[in-house]
Amino acid sequence: MKFEYDPRLIELAVFHRVRVEPQLEPAVHAVLDPLYLLPAGTARDARFHQAYAEMFQQLGLNRFVEDLLAEQPIVAGKADRCLVRQAARARQESIELYQRDDDPSATRTVLVQLTPEHLADPDPCRDEMRRELQHVADMMDPAFQYRAADLAGQSPQDNLVRDRYHVMWNVYVESRLTSAGHIAGGRKTALRNGFLRSFGGRFNPPVAAFEALWAPAKLDHSALMAMAQDPRRLPGWEESNAGGGDLRETLGSPCTLCGFSTFDWFDLQSEAGRRLVRILVERRDGWDTASGVCRQCAEACLARHASGSALCGV
Ligand SMILES: [Zn+2]
Repeated sequence: MKFEYDPRLIELAVFHRVRVEPQLEPAVHAVLDPLYLLPAGTARDARFHQAYAEMFQQLGLNRFVEDLLAEQPIVAGKADRCLVRQAARARQESIELYQRDDDPSATRTVLVQLTPEHLADPDPCRDEMRRELQHVADMMDPAFQYRAADLAGQSPQDNLVRDRYHVMWNVYVESRLTSAGHIAGGRKTALRNGFLRSFGGRFNPPVAAFEALWAPAKLDHSALMAMAQDPRRLPGWEESNAGGGDLRETLGSPCTLCGFSTFDWFDLQSEAGRRLVRILVERRDGWDTASGVCRQCAEACLARHASGSALCGV
């Protein structure tokens, strides 16, 4: 694999290393100062780029990205080139894969975006970059069978499925890296909260489903898609939702009050949900607890009945 660094990033990373290790300063000046005496122009710029590139190598600042990618043999073996560019800030640091799903012989490029600070001193970003790289490794792994096209839709349902897919994929990435000792971990609680939020509402996923995902058998793209599309396929769903098979709420099916297709069911098990059930059972003939209510209808109904006296409808 060929590594190509943005020359500006190389220059800034050298600066940062010198700032962290001021004893390097005389050696750097010895290389750069004579270049300032040359006439300004593209020839001098080229000499500067060359000098910075050599110092970059001598200081070992190329090691971080190269060693990181070598940790995932699938990526190291299959990517044709690795572009390393500057991230404007740490939050924008990422590793992305550019490949054509329809043409396996086309060039596969890994784009790594890092701040110069982290390229010069990578410890603070190492775990996060390992997470990024594991995603790329999954995308390149023939056994994972990633299909970007499945996640490309823009409808509300597509957005929801994509969100759930990424929440579960992040869990799968984190659990593997943590159990292999490749990252310090510590994100499990945040991931669990995100998982419960993403699958929230009436689908109220059992914490057991999260724990089963955390210690998984091998997962792949289609398994993640299936669970994202239908939470009843989550591990542990059956045991903790006995009778859940009667549930009439599915993604995109109509709310029993407004009739509009919804992806945001109200949690009827919650305290407010139980209050809503009492109101609806009393006022709607034929309504029972297996009928789903969308969040909008639920909140409107609860607001109308907040004082305990119904003023209109349900
Ligand atoms: Zn509704």
